[in-house]
Amino acid sequence: MNAPVREPSFRESVDIMFSRAVRLMDLSPGLEEKIRVCNSTYTVRFGVRLRGAIHTFTGYRSVHSEHMEPVKGGIRYAMSVNQDEVEALAALMTYKCALVETPFGGSKGGLRIDPREWDEHELELITRRFAYELAKRDLINPSQNVPAPDMGTGEREMAWIVDQYRRMNTTDINAAACVTGKPLNAGGIQGRVEATGRGIQYALREFFRHPEDVARAHLDGGLEGKRVVVQGLGNVGFHAAKFLSEEDGALVTGVIERDGAVMNPAGLSIEHLKAHIGATGGVKDFPGATYYEEGSAVLEAECDILVPAAMEGVINLSNADRIQAPLIIEAANGPVTAGADDLLRRKGKVIIPDLYANAGGVTVSYFEWVKNLSHIRFGRMQRRQEEAQHALLVQELERVARTSGMKHGLSDTFKSQYVRGAGELELVRSGLDDTMREAYQSIREVWHTRKGVEDLRVAAYLVSIGRVAASYRSKGL
Ligand code: GLU
Repeated sequence: MNAPVREPSFRESVDIMFSRAVRLMDLSPGLEEKIRVCNSTYTVRFGVRLRGAIHTFTGYRSVHSEHMEPVKGGIRYAMSVNQDEVEALAALMTYKCALVETPFGGSKGGLRIDPREWDEHELELITRRFAYELAKRDLINPSQNVPAPDMGTGEREMAWIVDQYRRMNTTDINAAACVTGKPLNAGGIQGRVEATGRGIQYALREFFRHPEDVARAHLDGGLEGKRVVVQGLGNVGFHAAKFLSEEDGALVTGVIERDGAVMNPAGLSIEHLKAHIGATGGVKDFPGATYYEEGSAVLEAECDILVPAAMEGVINLSNADRIQAPLIIEAANGPVTAGADDLLRRKGKVIIPDLYANAGGVTVSYFEWVKNLSHIRFGRMQRRQEEAQHALLVQELERVARTSGMKHGLSDTFKSQYVRGAGELELVRSGLDDTMREAYQSIREVWHTRKGVEDLRVAAYLVSIGRVAASYRSKGL
């Protein structure tokens, strides 16, 4: 899927979208420039001795805006990582955080590596060394810069990073807050792994609560029965597809992956498909589905909702014209280029933009960071009543367990963890739901009422840039 030459770079694409919104605002050119540009990008090249030779890796951490600190954003592991990309992603973090009102500036990191080429032990050495380089310069720090997972990284990498930071800062009582997306036993929070996917679900639910908005996408009714095509069954795409199909009655009719795409008009079983990918390395030969070698066959197929959940730039000037979905929700960062965005908008498509749609991840990251800094088990205080309800549920579970042949019923640890765990998860979910609903409402208000605003993306940028500008003004430059 090669983009034609006249397509701008990812960073330029974000700038174009930013400028489209700024044109409708009353910002001084000086402040506009200050908000738009990336404050700094640190590049590091380090060597790690692996398999008997020294391998040099290139990594980046870009800080886009420090109007609030710490700055926040994931660390990506991919061969495609470059400075332009991390800067674009860092900028998106600034706008995203402002939109959902998580009190962070924007940052992003990346390491140019194909994680599938290295085994776990090697990845640990590489990650620890990268974390050391960043932490040494306060580019990992609970009060300055707080990374999180992104493409190619997850809980495992975050656990290595927090451990590395701790070794370097043995007396920092807030060390756990230096990174989010950690495993539960390393200070993580329930519901963070699936948070971005959940956010997509909550965003779509909220969108479908407004018939007027749904009509703008030339659709009607609710999520039930809607045909959804998902590109990329990684962490975000998988969870979004799973929740939408299992909980909202949507039909995931198509999935596009590295090795091709599969389609089933009656809906694919996402859990089974994921297991199939795990076992065989791809979607090919998935039972009951039609396989296409070319992903474009499914990306451009007829459906109601298209969910690009993989990389930036996948919908560009070379294919935008053939996209049939009337509604696109950007689960990935920057999946639609500025040029494609123009074209799709002119054709009357509705795009729920990345800075809103995928903000679920950083929203729950914020809960995790707060939990770490408070040193109190999250939500413990507010939940006496809920806890009593969960205790009843546990009794019921135990009864079922016993009658279905479990001799000793449920273990005490399971029971206590269930009561505690469920409380935290509920809190995370309801907090995320509130956040996604509120943010959508603030955008749609601008979409419907502000002169010159044609689409949700510009509306989202307007809300977000307005908040960043206000923060700079009150802070005094
Ligand atoms: N990498 C995710 C994103 O693009 C999460 C960032 C975070 O939680 O800090 O939003």
